[in-house]
Amino acid sequence: MPDTMSDTTIQASATAQHGFTPALAERLRAVLGDKGMITDPAEMGGYLMEWRGLWTGRSPAILRPATTAECAEAVRLCAEAGVRMVPQAGNTSMVGASVPHETGDEVVISVSRMNRIIEVDPADMTMTVEAGAVLAAVQKAAADVECLFPLSLGAEGTAQIGGNLGTNAGGNTTLRYGNARDMVLGLEVVLPDGQVLDMLRRLRKDNTGYCLRHLFIGAEGTLGIITKAVLKLYPRQRDTQVAFVAVESVDAALALLNRFQRHDGASLTAFEYMMRFGLELVYRHIPGSAAPLADPHEHYCLIELSSPRPDASLRQGIEAVLEAAMADGLVRDAVIAESDAQRAALWRLREEHSEAQKREGASIKNDVSVPVSRVPALIADASAACRALIPGIRVCAFGHVGDGNIHFNLSVPEGADGAAFLKRWDEVAAAVNGVVRSLGGSFSAEHGVGRLKARTLAAWREGPELDLMRAIKRTIDPGNLMNPGKVVTLP
Ligand SMILES: Cc1cc2nc3c(=O)[nH]c(=O)nc-3n(C[C@H](O)[C@H](O)[C@H](O)COP(=O)(O)OP(=O)(O)OC[C@H]3O[C@@H](n4cnc5c(N)ncnc54)[C@H](O)[C@@H]3O)c2cc1C
Repeated sequence: MPDTMSDTTIQASATAQHGFTPALAERLRAVLGDKGMITDPAEMGGYLMEWRGLWTGRSPAILRPATTAECAEAVRLCAEAGVRMVPQAGNTSMVGASVPHETGDEVVISVSRMNRIIEVDPADMTMTVEAGAVLAAVQKAAADVECLFPLSLGAEGTAQIGGNLGTNAGGNTTLRYGNARDMVLGLEVVLPDGQVLDMLRRLRKDNTGYCLRHLFIGAEGTLGIITKAVLKLYPRQRDTQVAFVAVESVDAALALLNRFQRHDGASLTAFEYMMRFGLELVYRHIPGSAAPLADPHEHYCLIELSSPRPDASLRQGIEAVLEAAMADGLVRDAVIAESDAQRAALWRLREEHSEAQKREGASIKNDVSVPVSRVPALIADASAACRALIPGIRVCAFGHVGDGNIHFNLSVPEGADGAAFLKRWDEVAAAVNGVVRSLGGSFSAEHGVGRLKARTLAAWREGPELDLMRAIKRTIDPGNLMNPGKVVTLP
């Protein structure tokens, strides 16, 4: 387990008249009602445990406001009493950002009851939603009016917009549409003292001073609670082609990416990398999954092209690029999906990697990015570094190669003790991060910093960059009440 799990950056809990007193509990219940507050430990479990089970926090109460006004009043009361707050949406964070510490004095504020789709406007191509709207429901509401909300990730059936914006989520379509922050026009935020910051504008152009919404997007709940957002919509895709391709090497994957970009970059929606070991885990642990190609290979890509034009000739394009790449020795074998069901089945092989690796046993995860051209060096050098550290360690690298974002994950050596393996998390992460840094990359590409990487952030961003981040945190949250000990820790 990472050292950061015994994080002691949280200061001692508040004094007697402060903190989560029975009087405060009573006032909160009066504001939120019985449905809006959980204090029964038996019902709290799901809010306290991190997705992989690496951390289980403690809390006096889970607050579940149903409106912005309720959320603001609950935050105001907590702030007045000096109670620390942990914003939570779908609780699928991979970095321990959405669960409280073990100290037992932080309340969780879940936005999951604030889940309305307030307005869909196909003329302005916008959608206004509450923060607890599940990502898959937002995608569906867009599709219902012949539009697209393109954010797409493995946890989309559970993750909610508040969490997606809190983490500035990336996912499968960043290559084409950017990260979550690129899909937002306006925000409403409850600040750490309970004030409501209304920036719910739906303007495509608005150069009026500092763009504050971008401070809250990606802040992982450390600066306030996002309660509503105006999202950008895009034209719905009417022609989509998905290919599952065995490539000669990681270099060949990049060469193929480059060919697709030059052929029809505007239609390229996703370009994902997988390796043999990761797919073997999926076939082993995910019922109903099967290998799409006759023979196994070492390296694979999942490629999606899409267009709002029904007659975009994407099928001919994808075939032409793959045939030429095969003739040139880059591609070994490939299959192109013939139906929506086949497309979904191919995507599932990629999206079930995290779940399959979880079922296989202990794993150490590194969500890193490097300039796209350096992905082959990242995979080769980080694999060598980890194998030198722990012989038999099983490399499961996969991810958004088109963005230079690789989930460089490692499974416990076969037959080895999982707990002992996890104790070496920091050593393994340091080895991977050493390679990442030498290649000009980042220790967190899309999952964020949370609790897992707060120390790494302090080390990598030391100097004026970290000083400015801390100054922003102190200005907006002088009491260090909002998700303390996550992302930017205060000395
Ligand atoms: C199987 C699987 C696949 C995944 N794939 C991807 C992927 O491809 N790309 C990717 O980027 N991530 C991925 N993730 C990680 C995770 O799903 C994303 O980080 C997601 O955006 C988190 O959303 P959530 O609703 O679960 O947020 P939570 O986990 O509840 O919270 C995440 C962070 O946001 C903060 N937060 C929550 N709600 C609010 C709010 N209303 N206002 C302010 N801050 C808030 C929390 O305090 C926390 O810091 C994956 C996770 C899983 C389990």
